[in-house]
Amino acid sequence: MFDEFDLGIDSLAVRAGQTRSAEGEHAEALYLTSSFVFENAAEAAARFAGGREGNIYSRFTNPTVRMFEQRLAALEGAESCVATASGMAAILTTFMGLLKAGDHVICSRGVFGNTTSLLNNFMAKFGVETSYVALTDLTAWQAAIRPNTRLLYLETPSNPLMETADIRQLADLAHAHGAWLVVDNCFCTPVLQRPLALGADVVVHSATKYIDGQGRCLGGAVLGATALIDKDIFTFVRNAGPSMSPFNAWVFLKGLETLRLRMQAHCASAHALAQWLERHPAVARVHYPGLPSHPQHALAARQQSAFGGVVSFEVRGARAEAWGVIDAVRMLSITGNLGDTKTTITHPATTTHGKLSAEQRAAAGISEALIRVSVGLEDLVDIQADLARGLDRLA
Ligand SMILES: *Cc1c(COP(=O)(O)O)cnc(C)c1O
Repeated sequence: MFDEFDLGIDSLAVRAGQTRSAEGEHAEALYLTSSFVFENAAEAAARFAGGREGNIYSRFTNPTVRMFEQRLAALEGAESCVATASGMAAILTTFMGLLKAGDHVICSRGVFGNTTSLLNNFMAKFGVETSYVALTDLTAWQAAIRPNTRLLYLETPSNPLMETADIRQLADLAHAHGAWLVVDNCFCTPVLQRPLALGADVVVHSATKYIDGQGRCLGGAVLGATALIDKDIFTFVRNAGPSMSPFNAWVFLKGLETLRLRMQAHCASAHALAQWLERHPAVARVHYPGLPSHPQHALAARQQSAFGGVVSFEVRGARAEAWGVIDAVRMLSITGNLGDTKTTITHPATTTHGKLSAEQRAAAGISEALIRVSVGLEDLVDIQADLARGLDRLA
């Protein structure tokens, strides 16, 4: 066997975490079993008394899920990982595992809408209070700190404007006040950005997006130091049951093997598309961290190894013009999902961000003219031609 510590990132993506059964299977085995049997009563007693070692019941231990956890941990540079049923299950698990009544959370205003709902409608019921700040405004994060602040939460880059926060600065701020920094690394994946190396305490993922990468399965993960993950996070999943299915773990294991190649292709096409959009006369503004016109271009260049697969842009006009461009597409998928081989196109103001008030949307910078594209793996010329159908008519 090889020593995983000697392997490069591509080798880890293909090899890390794999265990073979006595059958000697080459590909990772899919263990579709809800429980595991013991040699005798004493072995059963020993397993139940133990921690994460040894299989008991697939709500909390399953070999296929374990292989996925160890492979993703190797890529994120994390000591430990717990897989969950979805990205939202990972976020709920993090909050339930780490917080208690009376605690205060500071959250970036631009996070995934369900995360905000979870904090406002559910964590609030259990006495956890949340303040919201602008992702890129360090002074606002500082000013929001209270004696009972336990957790700072953000996504970088943000959805849909691709704003970027300095993870190291915010980790230092959190630690100076005895709080944890939690980063949702869904948009970058460990291929583009490793928040734990920049000082974050916990990384959460929606594996549903780029880790699957082909739009098939829901899943998530929570990663960090063993002391945190194997205690509060694992124990919550074990008791509450927001667990990843072995089948989905098997799909995600295969997704991780090609993640780097796919991310490079997504990023290359997104970058070229952003440059092309910036030159188009019907486009008023493009939001992509790879463009020098992006306000955090320098930070993104420092913090990420590439700029991501999502591009947002404003057409000249308002809702009618944006909808016109969306309705003119023939190949692109009109859907809210992202991180797929298939390019997707969304109107954030009336879909993903439709529940916000007009004032909240204005504060978040999401106009009626904004369109978000998650760039897939089709030929770039075909993606451009599909967008040009509506854009050329506007110009
Ligand atoms: C999709 C998404 C989630 C939620 O993940 P699910 O797997 O859909 O539950 C969380 N954060 C971000 C940034 C996402 O894009």
